[in-house]
Amino acid sequence: MDQQVEQANTRQHMHLREFSDLISQSKEDCAYRDLIDVAREKTDGVTVPTPLFTILCKGNIIKRQWNIHSPICNPDAKITLRRLMMAEKPTKDAMVEEFWRLYLTTGKFEKERRQRHFFRLLPGTPRCKNCYAPFQGAGSIVVKTFYGKQPSRLNPQLCNVCEKFAHQYQGGAEIELSMLFADVRGSTTLAEAMNPTEYSQLINRFYSTATQVMVNSDALIDKIIGDQVAGMYVPGFAGKEHARRAIEAAQEILQATGHNNPKGPWIPLGVGVHTGTAFVGSLGSEQGTTDITVLGDAANIAARLSTNAGIGEILISEPAFSSAGIELDDLEKRVLELKGKSEPLNVWVIPS
Ligand SMILES: [Zn+2]
Repeated sequence: MDQQVEQANTRQHMHLREFSDLISQSKEDCAYRDLIDVAREKTDGVTVPTPLFTILCKGNIIKRQWNIHSPICNPDAKITLRRLMMAEKPTKDAMVEEFWRLYLTTGKFEKERRQRHFFRLLPGTPRCKNCYAPFQGAGSIVVKTFYGKQPSRLNPQLCNVCEKFAHQYQGGAEIELSMLFADVRGSTTLAEAMNPTEYSQLINRFYSTATQVMVNSDALIDKIIGDQVAGMYVPGFAGKEHARRAIEAAQEILQATGHNNPKGPWIPLGVGVHTGTAFVGSLGSEQGTTDITVLGDAANIAARLSTNAGIGEILISEPAFSSAGIELDDLEKRVLELKGKSEPLNVWVIPS
């Protein structure tokens, strides 16, 4: 048995059928056995991504033996198996969706979390938006030598390992998350007032300042485009208090860019924070590149909050506020009419 587990662990992924076979061979009485019998019939030929496979087994491996004891010990495995079996036709898509749901919403990916917390201590920006591996400076030598990680040639915002994974497991899940957008206000005027090199240096300084705050607060860096940076605060990275962490990060970004400084900020920003349900996962483009990103109305709302914020302001939507459990006290309330929205949106303003 040990050998079988070893083999399974060293492979990229295994068939769910093999997985259920292994469990069936367990000497312990299996609380999942009925479920697994059905799974075996319905999911022949379906492969399980290794991290999902690990979670399915987590809590059940004692001294490297398959040892299924109580369904309570592994509720995620139970839910996962149930979901897969309830799906009309469990396919690779269903597996991939389940994987992303677990990755983004649970704290089960402990190894990945520890690695991110180590990588963020290593100097060097830019970084992989998913695992925080630094791409420049001394840190990049460490991650290249010991982890085989370097910038992906296909998507410079991801490392080669994360890009390969995102490419292999395209798909995602609809989850509740908080989003933070920081937008350079008056960027056109700003760009006109300086030469292109100076402007690009200023924007790069903004990118690295904002992303470092996001990395320190466990965000999944989403977009670094034009004059905007966005971070996704998903429960699997930032914990249950993702809305509060996004709001705190927004305040830190404003502080780090000098908005509390009497002389004024070194770059003028507006920030928006919104909590809602959106699709997060890996998407392929027609050009063959893959990216980990967020899609949906909630992301558009968060982006528009930042472009509606004045310099040094954080606009926070009602769902983000109630999710964060922050006292509204004397905060200013505004009603925004957003383009394409029939209902006006209530927002609260935290001034810098
Ligand atoms: Zn990475």
